[in-house]
Amino acid sequence: MRVIKSIQSLQRLIQKAKRSGESIGFVPTMGALHQGHQSLIRCCRRENKITVLSIFVNPQQFGPHEDFLRYPRPGRLDKMLAEKEKVDIIFTPTEKTMYPDGYQTTVIVGDRAQGMCGRFRPGHFQGVATVVIKLLHIVMPDRLYLGEKDAQQVAVLRQVVRDLNFPVTIRVCPTVREKDGLAMSSRNRYLSAIERNEAAVLYHALQEARFHIRQGMRNAGTILRRIRSRIQRQSSATIDYIVCVDRATLKPLVTVHGKVMLALAVRFGRTRLIDNILVNVP
Ligand code: AMP
Repeated sequence: MRVIKSIQSLQRLIQKAKRSGESIGFVPTMGALHQGHQSLIRCCRRENKITVLSIFVNPQQFGPHEDFLRYPRPGRLDKMLAEKEKVDIIFTPTEKTMYPDGYQTTVIVGDRAQGMCGRFRPGHFQGVATVVIKLLHIVMPDRLYLGEKDAQQVAVLRQVVRDLNFPVTIRVCPTVREKDGLAMSSRNRYLSAIERNEAAVLYHALQEARFHIRQGMRNAGTILRRIRSRIQRQSSATIDYIVCVDRATLKPLVTVHGKVMLALAVRFGRTRLIDNILVNVP
């Protein structure tokens, strides 16, 4: 496994691989790797000759009062996990490497970045899109691996890749969960024991809603109220949003039909968690 910090060194390696006709898969992350990341890496390895993993805590996607400074950065453990998973190249640029003095460009993203997390984290998806575009230019992958857990990120990046003509295929991997259903996240480690216990409600409430939809419930308002009331019973939970949207466009639905996504963001104490599930409604 090669650990690379400089853009030029990475580009040299990529060009060499491309000349030999080797396919390149890319898994962008912010590190603090867990089984969710691991599943993306495994999927990437199955489908590509070369797997590139980036670890970069991107300051541009954090708001001024968010957790950028305390975001976990267990560098050595991450490298060990990547090595165990047989990643070929880890790219770990510094902030100065990605945003040198005088850096000015940011990408403006459209509709899909406005609702849901976009409402509570202004500028977040702009930061995500900017760093991912930079990374795509550097890595030039054939395939880009993203997790379904960050469904709005997937929708925004699909739009960006299409609009800016990136020759890359986006592969979306299912959400990996703890035994009690909590979606794995680098932020779960912030949770106190009580918050951690209560956080399992997110998946249970979403699953219950899926059950009701399968039983014939079609009114989005009623479905969302049920999810809300179940989550509100947890003492440490504060709801940012719960929505029922079209999976591709993220437009809110009044009556559930087609490919539906139920998505939410809830804070447990100071820790903000997101989750979603998909339901096909014939
Ligand atoms: P992050 O390091 O949190 O920015 O995540 C990097 C990538 O891993 C993103 O594409 C995430 O959607 C994906 N990811 C994070 N958590 C999970 C999970 N529990 N299951 C599957 N993918 C995940």
